Amino acid sequence: MRNVSVIGLGTMGRGIAFACAAANLAVVVQDIEEQGLENCKQYIDQQFAKSVQKGKLTEEQAAQRKHEIKYTLSVEEAATHADLVIEAVLEVIDLKVEIFKQLDQYAPGHAILATNTSTMSPTEIAAQTSRPEQCIALHFFNPVPKMKLIEVICGLETAEDTIAKSFQFGAQIGKECVRINEFPGFAVSRMNCLIGNEAMNMVMEGVGSAEDIDKAMKLGLNHPMGPLELADLVGLDTRLRNMEYLHQTLGGKYRPCPILTKYVKAGRLGKKTGKGFYTYD
Ligand code: NAD
Repeated sequence: MRNVSVIGLGTMGRGIAFACAAANLAVVVQDIEEQGLENCKQYIDQQFAKSVQKGKLTEEQAAQRKHEIKYTLSVEEAATHADLVIEAVLEVIDLKVEIFKQLDQYAPGHAILATNTSTMSPTEIAAQTSRPEQCIALHFFNPVPKMKLIEVICGLETAEDTIAKSFQFGAQIGKECVRINEFPGFAVSRMNCLIGNEAMNMVMEGVGSAEDIDKAMKLGLNHPMGPLELADLVGLDTRLRNMEYLHQTLGGKYRPCPILTKYVKAGRLGKKTGKGFYTYD
């Protein structure tokens, strides 16, 4: 795996792009917004500066790897030389399907097409392409540079060769992979969304403050982050879309907490907008 393209440069896409560039892969990144490209560039500069500070890369290595990243607004340009394309746009099935159709058209025949969806069906997305056996979900975790796991989610038609290459790619960028058979929410989101939603219900019911509920989970169950801090980091809009999909596919226990819906309507999207369950500088 040498040429990796990333489509959609929000919270996850830019992290995935950095992880690939830091591992010395040739990276092309694409977003629909000029601002998305600009934010990604700033993020990648900061991450490379941190890598240099920590002694993981020399200044020359960081400069060279940064320099090699190509930024584009065109899906065609992004896909045209890719061995692997990772889509990380909004959690909206129609949008993902539309992008996969374009990727199928522009990416070389051997390329693997992956989605970073947190919950949705790679089989459904793959079915709209001419290469369902080369489609897969590679579910990264936030923040990508720190989180070791990639859930490798196999759709109905995903070939063993595609799965093996995905595991090799994970190893190339220093991640650990687990193999998961497709089911809504996979392994991690299915559990994590439920914990987060229950924590939100508890805030709404006055069981405790966000701070105390998070502290209880960190000190009582040894979770590294509280569920509400984590939801703020994920983005409450993204979490709401995940809950809505899981509610629709897995039933009533995934009904989004009304506070979550209310916060999203108010534009309180968590860390990225400065306010969610907590307030940020
Ligand atoms: P985000 O809202 O931060 O970013 C989405 C990006 O996609 C934006 O930059 C937007 O401009 C871009 N975009 C929108 N339409 C596009 C198009 N047609 N073509 C190209 N780019 C387009 O979203 P996110 O939180 O990074 O989530 C992206 C995906 O990753 C979702 O499927 C989400 O479920 C999944 N995910 C998110 C997290 C998380 O913690 N946020 C973790 C794991 C997986």
